[in-house]
Amino acid sequence: MRKLASIQKIKNIESIEGADAIEKATVLGWQLVIRKGEFKVGDLCVYCEIDCVMPDKPEFEFVRARSNRIKTVRLRGQISQGICFPLNILPEGTQIEEDMDVTEIIGVTKYEPPIPANLAGAVKGNFPSFMPKTDETRIQVLQKVLDKNVGLSCYVAEKLDGSSATFYIKDGKFGVCTRNLELEYNEENSMWKFANENKLEEKLKTLNRNLCLQGEIIGEGIQKNKYKLRGQTVYFFNAFCIDSYEYLSLNELKGITNELELKMVPVLEENYVLDNSIENLIVKSKLKSQLNKDTIAEGIVIRPMNEMIEKQVLQGRLSFKVINPDFLIKYDE
Ligand code: ATP
Ligand code: MN
Repeated sequence: MRKLASIQKIKNIESIEGADAIEKATVLGWQLVIRKGEFKVGDLCVYCEIDCVMPDKPEFEFVRARSNRIKTVRLRGQISQGICFPLNILPEGTQIEEDMDVTEIIGVTKYEPPIPANLAGAVKGNFPSFMPKTDETRIQVLQKVLDKNVGLSCYVAEKLDGSSATFYIKDGKFGVCTRNLELEYNEENSMWKFANENKLEEKLKTLNRNLCLQGEIIGEGIQKNKYKLRGQTVYFFNAFCIDSYEYLSLNELKGITNELELKMVPVLEENYVLDNSIENLIVKSKLKSQLNKDTIAEGIVIRPMNEMIEKQVLQGRLSFKVINPDFLIKYDE
């Protein structure tokens, strides 16, 4: 689970050119602006990540004007992601331990973008448990994992900002799921439309195995259509073998999407030698989109050329996202 609010150490403090009331702090792999003198290096604080929705309490008064939501901002030219609060916002008697998740203790919830009408529809049930949901861990919390895997041969894919779509075939039964739910058949729904127009059920059946394909549906009516596309389409990023409960490698995913005439997310680099500097990787994420060079990319997803298990990362696989901070500023996230 992502820790939206946790107890963290101030790792570093630097001055910001031309600013005397504020300075730049490093917490985990995040950089943020703090009031000068409020913390010193080594102090513990309650660090709240972007996407936190703070409860209505006097200590969070100053985010109320922004619907209580913590977003990426730029202050005096410095990108700032997240907010550090003093430990005394915690209820009296709270046991203080570094890295402790305090999301529930303070009553923080997560901002979730609304699901557009064309993706909604009657729900068949929860997301089936025979395959994983889609998710990617943010690089800012993965310094240890990076240190452990530095030098590894990886690939870099563009992260697309749409809505997660899962299609599966299991024991002859075809299904369509959103991020968290399985959908009833509905020809008005964009994901079912995609499946019908692309004969996805038929195609998946030709593979003669229990398989799931996961991708991002993007285009008109979805997430402000940031790539300014006509219509809607899906770009795939995962192939998952249901019987062995394993993700297939990049090469297998390429093979399957080719064979079935489906699109894969843009692969920007193969055999990329993994760097363990979060700062360098953030610089690497600042790209234009391959789908439309006039638009800014949301960022990148990095994975090993061959799948690797990694317990410290969501879904238990080595894979993570680096979100382009300029994208977050541009779209006010
Ligand atoms: P967070 O996990 O940070 O709280 P979130 O759960 O809303 O945020 P996103 O920022 O949307 O997650 O990132 C994860 C999602 O990115 C995946 O669920 C997937 O739908 C989507 N995605 C888009 N492009 C890719 C890609 N190239 N590889 C993997 N996932 C991708
Ligand atoms: Mn997530």
